[in-house]
Amino acid sequence: MNILIKNCHIFCDDTESPIILGDVAVEGSRLVKVGSEGALPPGWHPERVIDGGNYLCLPGLINCHTHAAMTLLRSYADDLPLMHWLEKKIWPVENRLTGEDVYWGSLLAMMEMIRSGTTTFNDMYFFMDEVAQAVEKIGIRACLSRGLVGVGGTARVGLKESRKLIEKWQGGAKGRIRIWLGPHAPYTCPPGYIKKVLSLAKEYETGIHIHVAETRDEIRIINERYSKTPVTYLEELGVFEFPVLAAHCVHLTGDDISLLARRGVAVAHNPESNMKLASGVAPVVKLREAGITVGIGTDGAASNNNLDMFGEMRTAALLHKVFNEDPLVMPALEVLRMATGDGARALGLGDEIGVLKPGYKADLILVDLKQPHYHPRHNLVAHAVYAAGAGDVDLVIIDGEIVMENRKILTIDEERVLDEVERCARRLTSGFN
Ligand SMILES: [Zn+2]
Repeated sequence: MNILIKNCHIFCDDTESPIILGDVAVEGSRLVKVGSEGALPPGWHPERVIDGGNYLCLPGLINCHTHAAMTLLRSYADDLPLMHWLEKKIWPVENRLTGEDVYWGSLLAMMEMIRSGTTTFNDMYFFMDEVAQAVEKIGIRACLSRGLVGVGGTARVGLKESRKLIEKWQGGAKGRIRIWLGPHAPYTCPPGYIKKVLSLAKEYETGIHIHVAETRDEIRIINERYSKTPVTYLEELGVFEFPVLAAHCVHLTGDDISLLARRGVAVAHNPESNMKLASGVAPVVKLREAGITVGIGTDGAASNNNLDMFGEMRTAALLHKVFNEDPLVMPALEVLRMATGDGARALGLGDEIGVLKPGYKADLILVDLKQPHYHPRHNLVAHAVYAAGAGDVDLVIIDGEIVMENRKILTIDEERVLDEVERCARRLTSGFN
């Protein structure tokens, strides 16, 4: 459908002033005009015109690291030490998960993400065929990887499922789905297993999504086993020969940072999850100074406990200011870039999404500015990072399709998803306290 959004405030990062006033035109799945400059294609007529007068148009936000179906465990267990939380609470329930649970839990996550302005997410979990089905159904864009643990009973089946997932879903849902490989973390993937993952990555030319240096425990374990840091462990196995998105990267040495920069590894920063699990503060300012692409993620809803990228942007900005005792670090414009264009680059999609420019995919959101917290309008970029709320997103377009309008998602029955999730969650936790 040809869509014309007239006269809105547009976050247009290419220009000297980041916010411009003008029109946004969508043809098929792509943007054909952004701003007041440039002409529309000859004979172009809008089938739908939207008055953008009170809207801020942003590229859809990009959640660089999550485990969508963990919405099923939201607020099931909080405020516990990490290992107790995992071993006594999270893993026993995860052992009961079925494909159906993951389908509904993931759909709930996607609902929440769309309603808070996220149009692309990077997921690692299991039952990924069901996750892909949910992506196809709701109309979001996603990079999916089957979480791979090289120790225990699921090591081989994980690789087999990854292969099947690639064969079935690579480029699926009209090109909205990308499949990557998801070796869980250095401490759960021994060298031999990593090698197997890499040969699959080579065969299918995929990227790698992995947790790296999340906790001090991980640093200790890898040091005890291999006398290395997690980053050098992965480097020596050849992991960084491939496109890699490393989630967390909280505990890094100066050499680790130089190596990640040299190898072009991108990082997914998850400030709220790191804070809630008391993992530490990732050296994001240093990473960015080293030239590393850093996107923002929420991590799963069990350790956040929401998937709201507006909240995550604000936390990222505030956390690094207080941590560095420097109000100049992580200014709003840079944080908004991390949640959009940098996130796209981190996922290898920098030529397709993350900025509003003709030729790019039409993944955009309209934020309702007709609210007290957007006045006066001194600086809309600062508003988006410091004042915006998840509920301010009115309309969402993904791949040129209107997926949400007037805060109603058009592609699914939202009430039904809530009911199904309650049903699944009750069964999953019954018998546990
Ligand atoms: Zn994670």
